[in-house]
Amino acid sequence: MIPAFLCIDVEHDEHAPAIGDRPWEGFASAVELVDRLRGPLAERSGTAPHPTWFFRMDPIVERCFGRLDFAVHRHRDLVEHLSARGDFFGLHVHSLRWDEERGLPYTDYADIDWACRCVTVAADTFEQCFGRRPERFRHGGYFLPEPVVDTMLEAGVVADLTVEPGVAPQYADPSFGAFSTAPSTDFSAFPRRPYRPSRSDVGRPAVDDEDARPLVMIPLTSYDYGKVLDGFARGLAKRLLGRPRGPLPLNLWKAWPDPRTYWDLVSRAIDESPVPYVSMAIRSDPPESLPAQRVRALLEYLPNHPISKRLEFTDPLVFWPVPPATC
Ligand SMILES: [Zn+2]
Repeated sequence: MIPAFLCIDVEHDEHAPAIGDRPWEGFASAVELVDRLRGPLAERSGTAPHPTWFFRMDPIVERCFGRLDFAVHRHRDLVEHLSARGDFFGLHVHSLRWDEERGLPYTDYADIDWACRCVTVAADTFEQCFGRRPERFRHGGYFLPEPVVDTMLEAGVVADLTVEPGVAPQYADPSFGAFSTAPSTDFSAFPRRPYRPSRSDVGRPAVDDEDARPLVMIPLTSYDYGKVLDGFARGLAKRLLGRPRGPLPLNLWKAWPDPRTYWDLVSRAIDESPVPYVSMAIRSDPPESLPAQRVRALLEYLPNHPISKRLEFTDPLVFWPVPPATC
């Protein structure tokens, strides 16, 4: 069986939230989707699937929704349901900040102290909610600078699932809110398989135990799909996906030609990886949004694809403290 990590970022419906208490409909919808899939996936693989739910608890949540623990406080029934099902919980953080003058949220990557504060505040809230430190972590908005990694470690994180191999710095992105004060992290040369990061460079595997941070990095599954899809349907894939060069994440929310092709690409990525595993991330987008519809179509198709027999949706901590060796 192949360890598979389905990361679900539990956050407000809009990337750029406004001020006002309202439930996160995308969260309820993601729970429904997962519940519908539990039976068919268990039947195919012989093991009950468990995704990992990464909760947003950073300062912008308090500014817009009135409390840091809004995700858990307002949706207590959903959280208790997931806990009873035996799913795993982690922390998801954005460096969003409220612009008081203009009345909108923006991303402040230029202020590293703010980015670190977002992690600390969110981790403390996580502990208050769940009675333990957040061991599993995903930073939003393609961001993972060294001081944020050190702050994560102080906060108790041992497994990070942020890295999106091949992704160059982004200057504008819906996840940034209105704008960003600086570009995101350059993930283009980051490893494509799990590793323990060097103390001097989170994008490089440690050379030995002494050099290793007490952390396992689990990059999202990536693949050079541009090459494979080159001849697909007379360039349809290129029109849908742009012209990717080199490996990029197989994100479920992208516009893939069709579900079968998508899961074929995932199968290839697994078979060609020195460490067979899958890690994919989605956010709790509202059900009527295009990304949510794409994600739903791909996940609902999964039990029909042969790869579903081999996937065990499990806890990312199976790769902690040491990820499987590569040879
Ligand atoms: Zn996010």
